[in-house]
Amino acid sequence: MTPVQRPPAPPANLAPFRAKCNGCAAPILWAVTPEGEDVPVNPGTSHTGNVLLAVQNGELVAGVLNRGQASGARNAGHHLHRLHDVDCPRANGARTRH
Ligand SMILES: [Zn+2]
Repeated sequence: MTPVQRPPAPPANLAPFRAKCNGCAAPILWAVTPEGEDVPVNPGTSHTGNVLLAVQNGELVAGVLNRGQASGARNAGHHLHRLHDVDCPRANGARTRH
């Protein structure tokens, strides 16, 4: 009998962090930056992403990388995400200052 090959590392369970964008209703993940700021992140990974997600102590932590760090992380095999604000068609409207 051939043993069943299991995937090397099961992805972290992101279900508790799933939500919908208040602006455009797209599916998002709520993450928190190391500075403690809540940020919406696109659930899918992107080759232009610069956000490294990690579940730490029950929180989804978003490390926002600069260009060099993002390129290094990609080379190390990490899958990066994009901040939803970058893509959200309603982000500007929602953040308009009066
Ligand atoms: Zn949105």
